[in-house]
Amino acid sequence: MEHQALLENYLKQLHLSTFIHNYQAYASDAARTDLPYERYLLALCSAEVTQRDALRVERAIAQARFPVMKDLSTFDFSAVQNISKQLVLELAQGGYMASAETIILIGGPGLGKTHIATGLALAACKQGKRVRFFSANNLVNDLLSAQKDLRLSKLLTQFVKLDLVVLDELGFIPFREDGAQLLFQLCSDLNERVSIIVTTNLRFGEWNQVFREEKMTAALLDRLTHKAHILEFVGESYRFRQRLLQEEQQTPGESKQDAG
Ligand code: ADP
Ligand code: MG
Repeated sequence: MEHQALLENYLKQLHLSTFIHNYQAYASDAARTDLPYERYLLALCSAEVTQRDALRVERAIAQARFPVMKDLSTFDFSAVQNISKQLVLELAQGGYMASAETIILIGGPGLGKTHIATGLALAACKQGKRVRFFSANNLVNDLLSAQKDLRLSKLLTQFVKLDLVVLDELGFIPFREDGAQLLFQLCSDLNERVSIIVTTNLRFGEWNQVFREEKMTAALLDRLTHKAHILEFVGESYRFRQRLLQEEQQTPGESKQDAG
């Protein structure tokens, strides 16, 4: 009994919580099946590492703060014309983060840009990457209030520690001039160090409307598109099409012409 208390104390000090959970059951299994000592130790280590990896992923997902959880596996690639499933799955492997490349998802509403951005970011979390998801407007507000409270440089330092930042819905609302400047500063800081995934309804020629200042917009686009994968979404809103499909199924035989 004394040994047991001592062992568990050591395991606790060593932060081997899964060892504590498993060692007795594994020991009786090992005795029963005549397992060599090394194999017993291996089984304990393997369970500890597996458990730790799972916790790390869970933590990474929580820290990413996804507004809605979406997985690439639930994306119907046949519903979008221009998006190559192969390219998206290749990006999901995460190689783009090693060289801090950018991914820009462009297109009208409801085409699945946020879904793909979230799926890619989730895949990154599962690879143990540090990810943070932002609506572009919330991020600009965070930056503005950090600047007001004199903690901007501290906040920017935290960003540089990430592997991936998602900027969702850039362009839906134009920024205040000082907000646009801060976002530009952030993107400059992240440039070549941290990957960015941008989703936007804007064509590049329209970015002036959001960032207002022409020179700054040109500089920002230059940085963002320097090493970028650009995916253009074309078509009709997925949800809208699903609703049409449902309506068609509910009233079979009634085509548009019949109705009109
Ligand atoms: P966007 O960001 O382009 O406006 P979203 O990614 O928010 O579009 O998509 C709107 C909704 O439709 C989401 O619930 C999303 O999961 C779903 N959706 C869009 N495209 C697809 C698709 N091709 N396959 C499955 N779900 C889709
Ligand atoms: Mg979206």
